[in-house]
Amino acid sequence: MVEKLSLFESGQAQLDEVAGILNLEPGIRAILREPMRELHVSIPVRMDNGNVRIFKGFRVQYNDALGPCKGGIRFHPDETIDTVRALAFWMTWKCAVAGIPLGGGKGGVICDTKQMSLSEVERLSRAYVDAVWQFIGPERDIPAPDVYTNPQIMAWMMDEYSKLKGYNCPGVITGKPVAIGGSLGRGGATACGGMFTIIEAAKHLNIDLTAATVAVQGYGNAGSNIAILMNDILGSKIVAVSDSKGGIYNKQGLDPHKVFQHKASTGSVVNFTDAENISNEKLLELEVAVLCPSALEDVITERNASKIKAKIVAALANGPITPEADKVLVDNGVFIIPDFLCNAGGVTVSYFEGVQNAYNYYWDEEEIHERLGRKMTKAFQAVLSESLERKVSMRVAAYIVAVARVAEAMRLRGWG
Ligand code: GLU
Repeated sequence: MVEKLSLFESGQAQLDEVAGILNLEPGIRAILREPMRELHVSIPVRMDNGNVRIFKGFRVQYNDALGPCKGGIRFHPDETIDTVRALAFWMTWKCAVAGIPLGGGKGGVICDTKQMSLSEVERLSRAYVDAVWQFIGPERDIPAPDVYTNPQIMAWMMDEYSKLKGYNCPGVITGKPVAIGGSLGRGGATACGGMFTIIEAAKHLNIDLTAATVAVQGYGNAGSNIAILMNDILGSKIVAVSDSKGGIYNKQGLDPHKVFQHKASTGSVVNFTDAENISNEKLLELEVAVLCPSALEDVITERNASKIKAKIVAALANGPITPEADKVLVDNGVFIIPDFLCNAGGVTVSYFEGVQNAYNYYWDEEEIHERLGRKMTKAFQAVLSESLERKVSMRVAAYIVAVARVAEAMRLRGWG
């Protein structure tokens, strides 16, 4: 029986393939196959009932050849070190492909914030920083929001770090609220960056996005914002959206703002008026111009890849398409915008946030969008030309561009 590879192992397998294409030196290849550093912590938190509970947490610094490590912190009940490691690995390629001077990192805590009070979440956020603060910092490793963490949590974490250091340190973390050093445009940045790549992909494929049909799987930060942006700015028709509880469909199009309000008041997109409830599985198989998997990893797998009928799959989540599924989609003529390219807008505006914190001077939203548009378009075009020149898939091309950039930095530093 063939052992199923873990998320990180399948990342390593993809790296091996690209290392072969690039003919990487054995030393560089060996360094890139493993995380540079990992911290495992036990985090004591006093719960509202007076008892102390221990949470397990991680921070992985994968590679810092291009600059300080960068990447979000996830609060998830099913978090594992393997997932955090894989996500830190992808952050390395994400920063490199986006052309920003940062390395790859990621953090995670095994917890279910839906079962915790707000003050318990605050104490956990502060305690996580107490456990990792000597390991992070603006010159070392800069966390950010990710699955089930948000600007308020970033604010508590930045405040805790600043207290430990004894002075204000906004640059330790990004994705903060604007009032305490966050960047304008950071909230919608992942989706906005994704939209720039979808625009480029559609141009390349000669698809008119006006009134084009769109299905969005996941209605958190990335999913709800991509639905709203594509509806409001491009005039596309959002025919289906979903969250972990199920999906909704209307072939005439949904109003993504109203869906957002419905989810805010009921906790889910399901049972929205003027729409039919559908399963997440059905949503993925709809015949649409653009499909945006925008929630978690491993959504399009060997099991359902052959049923995907979208023309463009824009991977806004991290790792939603398995490598096996990727091959099936490519064989079936589906154009994939790979995750660490498609969702690089979040970390790109995080980088702008760090720059503004260092300057202590803040840009207006227009400037952020303009700079983000330039970065994302350039990144997409670099990957597309690599894919056309070498006749490889967009995913392999994205790895080639990113790995070559990190390898060059390593060579110049004398690591190879
Ligand atoms: N968590 C986001 C990601 O996976 C953003 C990371 C960041 O801003 O540092 O890309």
